[in-house]
Amino acid sequence: MNPSFPIPEPKVVWNHFFDLVAVPRPSKNEGAAIDHIEQWAKKLGFVAKRDSVNNLCVHVPASKATSAEPVILQCHVDIVSVTEDGNPFGADASAGKIPLERGEVDPKREKRLIPNANGDWINSPYTTLGADNGIGVAMMMALAEKQERSVPLELLFTVDEEAGMTGAIGMNPSQLGLTGKRLVNIDTEDDDEITIGSAGGRDVEVQWNGRWEKLSQSDAPSKWSIVKLKLDGLKGGHSGVEINQGRANANRLVARILNAIQSKSEIRLMDWQGGSRRNAIPDKSVVRFAIATDAVEQAQQTAKAMVESLDRLYSQRDNPIQLHIEVSECSLDAEALSSSDSAAWIRVAQGIPTGICEMTPELPVLVEASCNMAIIELATNKGGRIICSVRGTTPEALSDVSDSIVAIAGLANATTTVADGYPGWKPHLDSPLLQAAVKSYEKLFGETPKVHAIHAGLECGLLVEKLPGLHAISLGPTIKGNHAVGERVCISSVAKSYRYVEAILESLS
Ligand SMILES: [Zn+2]
Repeated sequence: MNPSFPIPEPKVVWNHFFDLVAVPRPSKNEGAAIDHIEQWAKKLGFVAKRDSVNNLCVHVPASKATSAEPVILQCHVDIVSVTEDGNPFGADASAGKIPLERGEVDPKREKRLIPNANGDWINSPYTTLGADNGIGVAMMMALAEKQERSVPLELLFTVDEEAGMTGAIGMNPSQLGLTGKRLVNIDTEDDDEITIGSAGGRDVEVQWNGRWEKLSQSDAPSKWSIVKLKLDGLKGGHSGVEINQGRANANRLVARILNAIQSKSEIRLMDWQGGSRRNAIPDKSVVRFAIATDAVEQAQQTAKAMVESLDRLYSQRDNPIQLHIEVSECSLDAEALSSSDSAAWIRVAQGIPTGICEMTPELPVLVEASCNMAIIELATNKGGRIICSVRGTTPEALSDVSDSIVAIAGLANATTTVADGYPGWKPHLDSPLLQAAVKSYEKLFGETPKVHAIHAGLECGLLVEKLPGLHAISLGPTIKGNHAVGERVCISSVAKSYRYVEAILESLS
């Protein structure tokens, strides 16, 4: 595909990228893109091997005989395809119809660039651009085409990173013929950063079949009211990378309020719905419960006072917390959870670890373990469940948090399901690959790169587990706003990253 603006340098990278833009490659549908890369490899006489989940490895020999061990370069071929409805160009990222713009960032509307043939950014105004991770694919293809190749390369193209990492999970190293012990992943989105660690994750689900009964079946009181209590307006955010930003969890705040009310008067839960996605900090939670009519006033005061004090605690970091309370009359025929089950359910929601559980001793800015009490569902006359997304850098940290949830649920006779999840990638600050990468950066750019780890899942965690003894780092050019319409990639940063990977490979020869 030929864009309407001048092709930036290095042209060899950008030409591959523009060709790739026109190839449909949404997650779980990467066949066309894998075929495209395989045909390119065959044309150049490189051996290309697929595994049973459709990952591809292209084996590129060094240009001269060398005893240097191969280096694995890796990125994912799938993209998050998002397209704006009713766009004027028939754009459709999932079909590879991605209109391109080059220009400078419009400070008012980052989704649209101010057109400029020499501008430093490329985006697609109506769709995701697919630079995450198309630009990595293009860089790898360009590196393989260099006349001088100081080390053998194993170009590993994985599928489905964005929608479950099933490519990395199912990767079969022997089918792919992988032998390298050093891996450079090109999926970090800031050109002055090297990523050296990520968190593992697993879901823990607490299920519970409580005893439902008519309010008339309970001994006291004789007059009940229904209170509907809703918290919203919270900031939410990503349950991994934003867990350290002190963002309130709506499910936990509702649990705290209920626990406080319950310490003064009996509560009978009727339904509860909070949160919607496992990897999002819940920004809203709604509960309905029955309470003695003469205790309603005190319950409302307790809720208001708690929200006021919590809002002060979180006000620097959150939007103001909104509390909505509706009170209605309640017949004695109404069904509610039994008194003891209601109390137990509230205690479980109050007791489950929430937010940061532990920091990493070697890297005190890095969260070691966390839990997001992501979803609470309780429907009248049915069972309920609480879904927690647990993250940890090490298997021990992951187990500690998930075991705590299982233990707390056990105290209330609830059952739990612990999913397998995916492993973390523990940072190794003394890795020779990292040292070589830092040295190359300092030599090329005269400053030290930022070396960091993130509290979210990356493919590297799975690859390190599949290839014992593997040293890995992740880097890449600056991409902003990925996974959304207007995603953009910085042209000068692509040139910088490309030179940088060239220099790292040179130093490893
Ligand atoms: Zn990516």
